[in-house]
Amino acid sequence: MKFLTGKTFKIKSCPICGFTNNVFHSLSKKNLYSEKISKILNVNENKMLSKIYNVKCKKCSLIYKNFWFKPKIIKILFKKEIPLHPKGMDIFEKKKFEKKYFLNEFNNLIKFHKNNKEKINKSKRVMGSIISAIDSNSKTLKSCKKILNKDNEDYKKKKFQKNILKISNLIKKPKRFSRFVGYNDRILWNYLMKITNFKIYGEVGCPSWGMLKIAKRNKKKIFFYDRKENNFWNEKILIKKSRLKKREIVYSLDRKKNSLFGIIEYLDHLVRPLNFLNEVAYSNDSFFILTEDPTKNNLPIQHFTGFQHTTFFHIAKKINKLLILNNKILKSKNMILAIFKKN
Ligand SMILES: [Zn+2]
Repeated sequence: MKFLTGKTFKIKSCPICGFTNNVFHSLSKKNLYSEKISKILNVNENKMLSKIYNVKCKKCSLIYKNFWFKPKIIKILFKKEIPLHPKGMDIFEKKKFEKKYFLNEFNNLIKFHKNNKEKINKSKRVMGSIISAIDSNSKTLKSCKKILNKDNEDYKKKKFQKNILKISNLIKKPKRFSRFVGYNDRILWNYLMKITNFKIYGEVGCPSWGMLKIAKRNKKKIFFYDRKENNFWNEKILIKKSRLKKREIVYSLDRKKNSLFGIIEYLDHLVRPLNFLNEVAYSNDSFFILTEDPTKNNLPIQHFTGFQHTTFFHIAKKINKLLILNNKILKSKNMILAIFKKN
């Protein structure tokens, strides 16, 4: 690990239960973040991904990284290399989910990028995220995504070109919970209303793609926790774009009654997730966590932790809350919804 000395530190115990025994779980796959981090560290991307990997806690089943990046590295990643939450921005750019945009990206990929690896990978990713948001069960979608995920030139084949044209006709309305719509979803909202009782609704993370809008429409008092976090985006621009009022933004949590607090695609970024959960549990009657199921997809390099059912049970015990798990509502996206209620 010589090549990472001074840039990373070893994680000696589980960030949730403190247990020191773990087993290898998985390698993270190449993505935008691994490309940028390896650039910041000035190391080979594949080499980095073979050394910084996911382990599983033998006690609470939390999946976490064996090594993590020092704050100075994380700062460069989120302040300079990727300063805006790409998915959060997509909410405001509907034109990115259009047939024309998709085909234009494909055209760039096969005609103009030549041997520019960074540009090629970017186009592949852009096309992949559009395909993931297409609301259809067509098998061609899967096969096209597979080819885009490959690190070779299969995307230049005639058959692929034909398939791309075919699926471009399926680009209509983006799929529920896809990056072009986010979580402002009525069915999810109604479910939360049914399970918990609340008058105040708060959220942390990305202000643009959660349920603040739908909460407001349902006459709830809302607040957004603008929490300082190295490992996440500085969301000032998205706060502005989301049209939150000054009085709706808080910079710390205080104890509230009848409140529900949403942690959407956020917890997996934190280096000290349990501290944060204690803070949230103390301040709110109920809260929920929406997070990627790490058993369905490998934990990506930019996520420090991955939570599964066993881990959530462990957390519920620690913070003395009642746990309700739901895998069905967000099944299409391989997400877990964990609701914590007053005991
Ligand atoms: Zn653990």
